[in-house]
Amino acid sequence: MFEEITDRIRKSNKIVFVTGAGISQESGIPTFRGKDGLWRKYNVMQLATIDAFYENPQLVWEWYNERRENIFTAKPNPGHKAIAELEKYVNVTVLTQNIDGLHKMAGSSNVCELHGSIIRIKCTVCDFNDEIMHEFEKFPPICKCGNILRPDVVWFGEPLPKDVWQKAIIHASQCDMMIIVGTSLVVSPANTLPIYAKQNNAFLIEVNPEKTILTPDMDFSIRNTSAISLPEFVSTFRK
Ligand code: NAD
Repeated sequence: MFEEITDRIRKSNKIVFVTGAGISQESGIPTFRGKDGLWRKYNVMQLATIDAFYENPQLVWEWYNERRENIFTAKPNPGHKAIAELEKYVNVTVLTQNIDGLHKMAGSSNVCELHGSIIRIKCTVCDFNDEIMHEFEKFPPICKCGNILRPDVVWFGEPLPKDVWQKAIIHASQCDMMIIVGTSLVVSPANTLPIYAKQNNAFLIEVNPEKTILTPDMDFSIRNTSAISLPEFVSTFRK
């Protein structure tokens, strides 16, 4: 089966990766769900939502700042690097739910960040935004215009940026192979992307140590971590 999959990858005209928190787990960034996921330690629904932010911006900022510091020091792992390397051989697009920037850091050039970036900040009112790692002394930080700043991420209860989502749908609808890595596929609308691919008769592969709700719809499932399995596939192209 391994040879069959690499052969299919080689012959694909357009491969789309849909990635989630699991691909960055081996970079030391906790997932939300699954073993050791953040859900087990915090009630994320009280923190990663637009309502939570306006109710208690200080608490939400403190939680995000801890995550920002962790993510800021994280490095791409062999899974991110394998996807970036695959670009040398085939047409690759990455649609990621992650907010950690590690795909771009690994060298992937065609990345749609569906849920924004945790390092980027923006004002809740004016046009100000910035992508450097600010150190804030007080939370919530305040913009020059006098209003509250926020991380530039998409919270539960918020829509995805329209242009980013439109682009993602087009990529998913046009691919002939979709490789779904490290996502529980429970967050909407990102979890509908495999459906767009299936409508185009794309071959669906899942890379996840655990089963997901879409496992029965996959053409092939790899029950291993992404940092172990993805480099194995890419190494066959170097020969
Ligand atoms: P999730 O936490 O719901 O699911 C993680 C999935 O990854 C699980 O199915 C788990 O079995 C799998 N997994 C765990 N370790 C893995 C590994 N080493 N290799 C491959 N798979 C592994 O994550 P989600 O589906 O991305 O959805 C949650 C939301 O969490 C997204 O909106 C995302 O923005 C946000 N989030 C992002 C980060 C990040 O940027 N790194 C981290 C946590 C949460």
